[in-house]
Amino acid sequence: MKAMVIHQFGEPEVMQWEDPPAPAAGPGEVVVRVHSVSVNRTLDLQVREDGGGYGAILPLVLGNDPAGEVAETGQGVESPKVGERVAISQGIHCNACEQCDSGRPFQCANRRMLGIHLWGGYAEYVKVPASNCVTIPDGLSYGEATVVARHFPLAIAQTRLTNLQAGDWALVMGAAGGLGSCIVQVARAIGANIIAGAGADERVAVGLDLGAQHGVNYRRDDLEAEVMRITGGRGVDAVFENIGDPTQWDGAFNSMARGGRLVTVGAHGGGMVTLDLKKLYQRRLQVMSGLGAEGRAELEESLAQTASGQFQVLIDRTLPLSQAVAAHKLVDSNEPLGKVILDPTLD
Ligand SMILES: [Zn+2]
Repeated sequence: MKAMVIHQFGEPEVMQWEDPPAPAAGPGEVVVRVHSVSVNRTLDLQVREDGGGYGAILPLVLGNDPAGEVAETGQGVESPKVGERVAISQGIHCNACEQCDSGRPFQCANRRMLGIHLWGGYAEYVKVPASNCVTIPDGLSYGEATVVARHFPLAIAQTRLTNLQAGDWALVMGAAGGLGSCIVQVARAIGANIIAGAGADERVAVGLDLGAQHGVNYRRDDLEAEVMRITGGRGVDAVFENIGDPTQWDGAFNSMARGGRLVTVGAHGGGMVTLDLKKLYQRRLQVMSGLGAEGRAELEESLAQTASGQFQVLIDRTLPLSQAVAAHKLVDSNEPLGKVILDPTLD
């Protein structure tokens, strides 16, 4: 098969257009003919550059969120069937550790990720456990399914972790980003009052377009003061932080109402912050991480909501897989508005 393989970390050119053997489906596995995979800043660009601190295993085929049609099923697989259109739930658990045995596979000690620890979707074919496949509803393209799979399940998982309810106040940091833009839409569907936080006016505007009722440009204005002004001095019930920027952390933390919950996944803003413990316990606040809590159920829900028009995904353009080097440079330029998709069937 054709695949973009990396043998060493570095510049985009380390991705080589090669012909490795196609995978074969083992027991409980399926082989998917890839039709789409997205180019992500953290999980593709950063992993390609230096492994991203995830323990990436070389040689590697990137691609965390492929979608495609089932080409082969292994022994014991009843679903999905050959020819079925599927998206893939990220995070492959071992079914053998203590957490998996006790029904918490999202906390699996041996959790592996496509495109990091296992060969991913920058290839004509990818092998995954059948149990990670979710059927794509009619009316959704492969590209849309890929973009949905990348961020919406985590966005749903985060709103559940924070127990966000209709009428609650929510502050979404990075509201125009990949994850933030999904959280705004999930929170809107729940019926929350949403404040879109972003570092530029045009990015705040994206959050407002997606359904936030209020916005704060936290690079220009004082975040905490603005949130308190908007909420009449009360603060918000849930903060979706997800940027890990030490210059914004205090403002986000201090924006919580009594009993508020802050969830954070992602540290591209630096990741080292201070925590006011006295305020944490005196105001009955919670700070939590929700990585990996998303699974099949959240992916199924995300795809259904997108098919029904509740959620929208933004695709900038679709390129043949062989142009992955150019695609990485494009994403690195910050120019695309929406996801860049690679499609091996265009080669
Ligand atoms: Zn496990």
